[in-house]
Amino acid sequence: MSDQLQMVRDIEREVAYTRRMIGRTALRDSVMHAIRDVPREAFVPETERRFAYDNGPLPIGCGQTISQPYIVALMTDLLELEADAVVLEVGTGSGYQAAVLSRVAKRVYTVEIIETLAMRAAETLTHLGYDNVSCRCVDGFHGWPEHAPYDAIMVTAAALEIPPPLIDQLKPGGRLVIPIGHPFDYQQLILVEKSLSGEVSERTILGVAFVPLTRSGQA
Ligand code: SAH
Repeated sequence: MSDQLQMVRDIEREVAYTRRMIGRTALRDSVMHAIRDVPREAFVPETERRFAYDNGPLPIGCGQTISQPYIVALMTDLLELEADAVVLEVGTGSGYQAAVLSRVAKRVYTVEIIETLAMRAAETLTHLGYDNVSCRCVDGFHGWPEHAPYDAIMVTAAALEIPPPLIDQLKPGGRLVIPIGHPFDYQQLILVEKSLSGEVSERTILGVAFVPLTRSGQA
């Protein structure tokens, strides 16, 4: 079995273990196809490449990490994306999550606060031909208002509260996932849904550990 297929099996096993918490016994086919197709090794530093298909997080430089594949798959699945969806990601990091999203949605906008990472991710994504992803180096607390509203928003860094601009930039009927809690500790992965009439509800999915969402001037 290829390393990538082994990773898919590991994710399926972890989904089965956590099925009660996440409310699903399997993730959508579109999500698992994306996970199978995106070469994770192209998004990690050369020194980490031999671990690229382990089901764990990996360092990507600048003190940041690429999330565990199971969490990437789960967060993508929770957004319940349609093929014509427009998605905002806050926390580009390596660009891996954006690449996975780009295989499931129509258009991905992703923002990263650290310039070195933003530039490297944009290069990797262009090099691999993910041409429906746009990257920008800004503080994602403010979202990316020019392309709003979004069908879905994913925040891949931990915050104490949901940044209000992100709620504003979410379409009615849209979904947002974000780890909420103290940085450098465990957080809760929260799924936010905005109803068609604009009411916002939240659901806790499971415990996660993310690097913090920093703010401009503190990065
Ligand atoms: N999704 C990434 C991993 C995210 S790690 C991947 O697939 O590789 C979290 C990222 O969020 C880090 O790169 C960090 O620099 C970035 N980040 C932290 N605060 C941010 C902010 N306010 N705006 C945008 N990006 C931020």
